[in-house]
Amino acid sequence: MIVEQIWTGNAYRNFNYLIACPETGEAMAIDPLDHEKCLAVAKKHGWQITQVLNTHEHFDHIGGNEQVIAATGAKLLAHANADGAIPGMDRGLKAGDLIKVGNTVEFEVLDTPGHTMSHVCLLSHTEIPALFCGDTLFNAGAGNCHHGGHPEELYCTFAEQLSQLADNTQIYPGHDYLANNLEFTLDREPDNARAGQLLGSVRDQDPNAALVSTLGLEKEINTFFRLQSPTVIARLQDAFPDLPEHPDARTVFIKLRELRNNW
Ligand SMILES: [Zn+2]
Ligand SMILES: [Zn+2]
Repeated sequence: MIVEQIWTGNAYRNFNYLIACPETGEAMAIDPLDHEKCLAVAKKHGWQITQVLNTHEHFDHIGGNEQVIAATGAKLLAHANADGAIPGMDRGLKAGDLIKVGNTVEFEVLDTPGHTMSHVCLLSHTEIPALFCGDTLFNAGAGNCHHGGHPEELYCTFAEQLSQLADNTQIYPGHDYLANNLEFTLDREPDNARAGQLLGSVRDQDPNAALVSTLGLEKEINTFFRLQSPTVIARLQDAFPDLPEHPDARTVFIKLRELRNNW
């Protein structure tokens, strides 16, 4: 499996992806908003884009579909419930479905509601697993729930699905928010030395060669995986004096999401 992470350089800081089979040159484009860059990268490698996958229905993820499909004849895949919200879908996806790219690449579909209620993540069946997680999980952060989402569902997705994946899973999110999210982690957990050290090394990173994190690293630096941290809980109790002495993980997650909305 070959992964090209394509930095759009736009105001929303989107990452687009091309995933290619090294044997056949077939490729899948994930959320190819910057259709010109995606088509140019495919052309440079001699790849044929045969599928376009949208992680969810927001415009900054589907806005390049038409041009990529017009240029390549690719099929359009997205969450089954996004039919209607995403024009021109050819295949509706549900949890456990398999997606093949060429001879060598296979993905499992995860149904991951929270950012929207029609959001999929893709988990590769490769020796080192890779997760393409759209706006559900960001480096050091979690998606917001302002446009069709629910924090309770996002918590369940994190607790029941994402946190259960292998620690070596590589994380490929839909946006580059790493530095800003690390600032939030440090605001919530000032004694998180790993987050502080990482912020120093990525603050000025070139997004064209962005750090690819792992789930294991996220568990160290992402507040939304650190729901048991005594510092996180103590700081949350300062912000929300009504919290119980031992708040459950769901409550901690939802309060963190609420603070992040206004941070
Ligand atoms: Zn979104
Ligand atoms: Zn987005």
